[in-house]
Amino acid sequence: RPRTKDEVMAKVKELGVRFIRLQLTDILGITKNVDIPVSQLGKALDGQIMFDGSSIEGFVRIEESDMLLRPDPSTFVVYPWLESGATATARLICDVYNPDGTPFEGDPRNCLRRQVEAAKAMGFTFNVGPEPEFYLFERDAEGKPTTRPTDKASYFDLAPLDQGEETRRDIVVALEKMGFEIEASHHEVGPGQHEIDFKYADAITTADNIATFRFVVRTIAIQHGLHASFMPKPVYGIPGNGMHLHMSLFRGNENAFYDPSTPNQLSDVAMHFLAGLLHHAPAVTAICNPLVNSYKRLVPGYEAPVHIAWSEQNRSPLVRIPARRGLSTRLEFRSPDPSCNPYLALAVTLAAGLDGIRKQMEPPAPVHRNIYRMTDEERRELGIRPLPGSLGQALDALREDEVIQEALGPHIYAHFLEAKEVEWEIYRSQVHQWELDQYLGVF
Ligand code: GLU
Ligand code: MG
Ligand code: MG
Repeated sequence: RPRTKDEVMAKVKELGVRFIRLQLTDILGITKNVDIPVSQLGKALDGQIMFDGSSIEGFVRIEESDMLLRPDPSTFVVYPWLESGATATARLICDVYNPDGTPFEGDPRNCLRRQVEAAKAMGFTFNVGPEPEFYLFERDAEGKPTTRPTDKASYFDLAPLDQGEETRRDIVVALEKMGFEIEASHHEVGPGQHEIDFKYADAITTADNIATFRFVVRTIAIQHGLHASFMPKPVYGIPGNGMHLHMSLFRGNENAFYDPSTPNQLSDVAMHFLAGLLHHAPAVTAICNPLVNSYKRLVPGYEAPVHIAWSEQNRSPLVRIPARRGLSTRLEFRSPDPSCNPYLALAVTLAAGLDGIRKQMEPPAPVHRNIYRMTDEERRELGIRPLPGSLGQALDALREDEVIQEALGPHIYAHFLEAKEVEWEIYRSQVHQWELDQYLGVF
């Protein structure tokens, strides 16, 4: 992977690349890009490409709209489906700067970098490995996405090679060509639902990878005449799409979550991080589960978390500690869904964990019983709080959590909150089909 401008220029020549896509992610997590011919690449790598920030969700107002893109040379990669010929295309992920050359505080990648720097100042690298899930749905005669799955298979099934499996395999091939180290890919529990796990990396690389992953999955699905959906709960009554995050802090080459001398072999750092994550979980949910639809997934019965608790045995709590120790010691945070902005999601989870370390928070006792089956009374006695039940409740929690607001920074916080309040209000005042079915004939 190139490190400098000259190395990128050399690669472009060597590979015969003709076009470059400059990529960035807006506050709501949508990946945007601008296409430039290679003749403009020198200028772009000098950070001279201006774009109209007012056209990007939550960026700036019309009167202050010029922003600069600074491509990160290490993100250079050729699109495998546009590898050669007159349209050979590579992409570069960019940081966004103000015209005066200062980093733009509304840029989610910049927001994550601030937390990564905070961790570094404490001696830590934040490593994250994601497990994104998605559905492959058929398209109708006009090419519009449906919610008809491509198969009827379930978890780990080895179905006859249908379009779904072929598509998943082609996705894996494309990702590998782009430098992803795929650890596993398998059919998930839902019909037409899949999961592809890739190797952990530092937080910024992983956030870039998640954005790239979603784009690649959608692109390859289109090539197979299908629609890939990362919607948290696309169909009532079948599992939703989660994106579990396996998280650890490293100190140099050592895993700072591992301590062979404690009974559970987890370090104080791990326990404080866990406590911080649980403490800030309600506000973190607003960022990690940002859609009205996200809360249709966080219900009992589909392996998605509903309560704020942790466990080393139970598979369904908010935070699970997998059995592996040593370098693989990690927390699995199970609430995030793949509709989130990956940069902001990693920024707020890291901020929550670091707050736990700074304040030396202690986690509550682990819960090894099935939380769904407890009575409200039992849960109250054990101090088990529910996760927010709706986007509205999650926004209320975010309004009360200054640590998470500070992690987002005033610009992103204000714009995110405003956009989501509108989204929630519009949804809340709709009359849904379910209400008509239930009430129209009766009242
Ligand atoms: N699909 C489940 C969810 O909504 C997760 C299934 C799993 O444990 O991998 O989070
Ligand atoms: Mg899964
Ligand atoms: Mg998992």
